[in-house]
Amino acid sequence: MSIIICPNCKSVITPEEKTYRCPEGHAFDISKDGYINLLLPNQKKKLNPGDNKAMINARDLFLQKGHYDFLLDHIDLTISTLGLLKSNTSKSHHLLDIGCGTGYYTRRLFNKYDIIKTGLDISKEGVSKASKKDKKNTYVVGSAFNLPIADNSVDLVLNIFAPADLTEVNRVLKTDGVFIKIIPEGNHMEEVANLVYDTFIPHKSTIESELEKDNGFEVLDSQQIGNSLTLASTDIQNLITMTPYFYKFNKEDIDKLQTLSVSLSFKVIIIRKL
Ligand SMILES: [Zn+2]
Repeated sequence: MSIIICPNCKSVITPEEKTYRCPEGHAFDISKDGYINLLLPNQKKKLNPGDNKAMINARDLFLQKGHYDFLLDHIDLTISTLGLLKSNTSKSHHLLDIGCGTGYYTRRLFNKYDIIKTGLDISKEGVSKASKKDKKNTYVVGSAFNLPIADNSVDLVLNIFAPADLTEVNRVLKTDGVFIKIIPEGNHMEEVANLVYDTFIPHKSTIESELEKDNGFEVLDSQQIGNSLTLASTDIQNLITMTPYFYKFNKEDIDKLQTLSVSLSFKVIIIRKL
């Protein structure tokens, strides 16, 4: 059973050879890379919204080096310790990765469980790369603020360093479904920020208080994890290019950086839909 819905009429769409179709006759072609574009023209503010090709390529090269894999390990261990996914159930779990980018986390996480994964991002470049690398799972170009996903259909929402709309997350999750939200915290990338800003302002999120105010969620676990990397020139260039800091730099100044120690600091919040 598909969890993907038609962005026009909201009925479930199912794949038929090269097209997804809804009962009303709206059709969405599967691209040659294997993804579907469900972003309606009125849902985008510019022609190609989201991360551009340079940012996507930089992220792909950087993540492939495994620099963020300690985060994957942490998520896997937390979900298994809390017993939030079960093996050997009669039905498959559905995972939705909101803001999946290149699909690095989508394809790497939870492969020991029986799980059907859908990655969604507003960046066509990101979704295209994700679907080229991963033929097992489904990738969709779509808006996090108007998810083309059925109500009460998802067991696990993953949302890593990307915007999400709490009302939409709540709508698509099943009761008792799990929402994993990961945000930069504290001194994340302080050393990079110090190269372009006079004063570093530590990352501080209000998401937990927003969740507490929202009667639809319960925070099960919240942990801060970090690491320190010493990076050489190519990795520094890729790390800067994959973040908004890129726009603050002159290209020549990035090229001059030979080595840099960088602090990584994330908050991993595990939330249950009530
Ligand atoms: Zn339709």
